[in-house]
Amino acid sequence: MNGEQEIIAKWGSLLSGRQLLWSTLPTELQQDLTLALKVGHLQQIEVLPGSRVRGQDRYCQRCDSRLTATARLPNGQFYCTACLALGRVTQGSWLVRLANDQLEPVRDQVLTWSGELTSAQADLTAALLKTYQQGAKVQLLWAVTGAGKTEITFPLIASYLAQGGRVGFVSPRVDVCNELFPRLQAAFVGTSVGLHHGHQHSDSEGEQLVVATIHQLIRYYQAFDLLIVDEVDAFPYVNDPMLERALDRAVKPNGQRLYLSATPPAKLRRAARQGRLPLHYLARRFHGRPLIQPRVVLGEVFQKNSLSQRLRRLLTPWLARGRRLLVFVPQAAALPQYLAAFSLTFPQMSCATVHAQDPLRTEKVADFRAGQGQILLTTTILERGVTLAHIDVLVLAADHPNFKVASLVQIAGRVGRASVDQGDQVVFFSRYYSWAMGQACHQIKHLNRLGGF
Ligand SMILES: [Zn+2]
Repeated sequence: MNGEQEIIAKWGSLLSGRQLLWSTLPTELQQDLTLALKVGHLQQIEVLPGSRVRGQDRYCQRCDSRLTATARLPNGQFYCTACLALGRVTQGSWLVRLANDQLEPVRDQVLTWSGELTSAQADLTAALLKTYQQGAKVQLLWAVTGAGKTEITFPLIASYLAQGGRVGFVSPRVDVCNELFPRLQAAFVGTSVGLHHGHQHSDSEGEQLVVATIHQLIRYYQAFDLLIVDEVDAFPYVNDPMLERALDRAVKPNGQRLYLSATPPAKLRRAARQGRLPLHYLARRFHGRPLIQPRVVLGEVFQKNSLSQRLRRLLTPWLARGRRLLVFVPQAAALPQYLAAFSLTFPQMSCATVHAQDPLRTEKVADFRAGQGQILLTTTILERGVTLAHIDVLVLAADHPNFKVASLVQIAGRVGRASVDQGDQVVFFSRYYSWAMGQACHQIKHLNRLGGF
C-alpha cells in the first residue's frame, strides 16, 4: 500500500487533525508512510523535521518555542523543553501532520439533552450563533459564576456537530474535564466523544467531540470547526504564548472559537471594549438571584495563638446558627497556624485543611461536600469548579497579593449557588483594603447591575 488516499482511508481516525511524533506512530503506519515517501510525494500528509532554523535561532516545529542552547541531549541534539510533557521533540525527531478537512455525515437530532435553557440562556445561544454566521472567528462569553455556562454551549455544539463539524471543549484543569466528559456524553448520545488529558492515556480515535486539557492541543492540527475554551483566564493558559499558539493551530483555518470566563483577563476585556472581540454577558445565575456582594471587614486575624476578638465576634453568630464555613487563606504553608487558631478558639467545631499537594485532597473535598465537618480551611485551589450548597465564605488576609481580583471574584462566587436562598454570605477579612478587593467588589456590583438587579 503506498497511495496517500489509501493511507488516509486506513489511518484517518488516528491522523486526521493531529500532529504526532513519528516515533509514537504504529509500526505499520510508519511502514506505509515510508513506502509512500519513497514512491512519490505526499500531498495532504506532512512529514516534517522536529525543529527548524529561523534567523539566528532554532525552533520546535510542534509548539513553535525557541530551543535553548542549554537543553541538549548527550549526543548534542537540541530538544524542546516547552512541550516536553507531551513527548520529547528533538532535532532528529520527525512530525507527521494531517489537517482535518473531512466532515462527518450531516445529521439532525444531535442533542439528546433533556434539560431546558432559561430564556436568557436561549437568547444568548441565538446571539452567539448569529455572530458566528456573520463571520466572527472568536467570541467571548462572560458568564457569572453559577450561570450555567456549560449548558449554554450545548445548542451551539449541536449545530456544529449536525453539520458534520468537529468540536473541541478544552479546559486548563483536569478535574473540570473529568466532570464535563460524562455530561457531554449524556447530552450527545449518538456522537463519539473523547476525553484526553495527561492522566488518561487512550489515544484519539478521531472523535467528533473532544474534551481535553489545553495542553493536549499541542497534538492537534487544524482539527476543529469550533473550539470552546473554558476558564480562559485560569492558570496555566494565561501568559503562556506556547499554549496560545497551540490553540491557534488546533482550529481549522476557517474554524471558530468561543472563550468562556467568569473573570475574563484584562487583555480580552480590552479587545472587547475596542470592538475587536464580540462580547456577550450572562449576568444572571440560573436561579435568577444576584451574585452575593462581599462584605469587607478590617482587622487582625490572630491574637497570640488564637483568633482575634474581632474575628471571633464575626464568626460566633454564624457558627451558632450551624452555618458551615469555607475559609480561604493566602498560603498553604500557613494552614497549620490557621488550623491551630481555629481549634483553639472554637474547640467544639470540627475543622480540616486542604491544599493542592494534599494527598487526601479529593476525599476531603468530597467529605465536606457531603456535609461532614463545619469548617474547611483551604488555599485558592478551591476558588473555582467547586459547588457547595449553603456555605458561608471567609477570606482571611484578603489583602495578600496571592488574592488577585479574579481569585476574589471566583471565591465570592462559591456562595449563593443553590436554588433556595439561605442567606449565604461572603466576607473579605484583612488588615488593609487592597486594590484587588476594591476591584472585585466593584466587578460583582457591575455584573449584578448588568443582570438587572
Ligand atoms: Zn516544542
